[in-house]
Amino acid sequence: MSVLLNTLIVVLTVAVMEVVATLAHRYIMHGIGWGWHRSHHEPRTGWFERNDLYAVVFALLAIVLIAFGTAGAWPLQWIGAGMTAYGAIYFVLHDGLVHKRWPFSLIPRRGYMKRLYRAHRLHHAVKGREDGVSFGFIYAPPVEKLEAELKRRQASAGAARGSSSAASSCAERETPAPPPRR
Ligand SMILES: [Zn+2]
Ligand SMILES: [Zn+2]
Repeated sequence: MSVLLNTLIVVLTVAVMEVVATLAHRYIMHGIGWGWHRSHHEPRTGWFERNDLYAVVFALLAIVLIAFGTAGAWPLQWIGAGMTAYGAIYFVLHDGLVHKRWPFSLIPRRGYMKRLYRAHRLHHAVKGREDGVSFGFIYAPPVEKLEAELKRRQASAGAARGSSSAASSCAERETPAPPPRR
């Protein structure tokens, strides 16, 4: 098969993986799979967190695809290569840039990197499994949009609290969002 076609398959797989990862993050990791993902929304105590098991699952899947592909089932090896490339990008941007799981700190000051960094920080601004924003890892929605969404939810949560309990104080409603996870 032509190099061009195989390259195209790798690039397409990276794009599809972002969609798959975003959906998995929103509906599985913040759903039935919260048991593994919760560790990522709590302070890390050692080198690893239980959430890393998701990366292991995707890596195993990529290995199986590459094995079948190199045994003759084209183009599975290139889909596996795309998944591996996505894993590398995910590691650099999410684990490295945002969560600093490498021995240096680099806070992006402008452009796409800054937007990605801030958007994922806002994902971590919501404690717990419900009502999160920004579930992607390579694509980040505009930060202003996310902030407005968080504010709107806070206001409606405050209003709901106010109507359900006459004793709830204004001060409580005006509590700002907790700072993003360090
Ligand atoms: Zn999450
Ligand atoms: Zn994160």
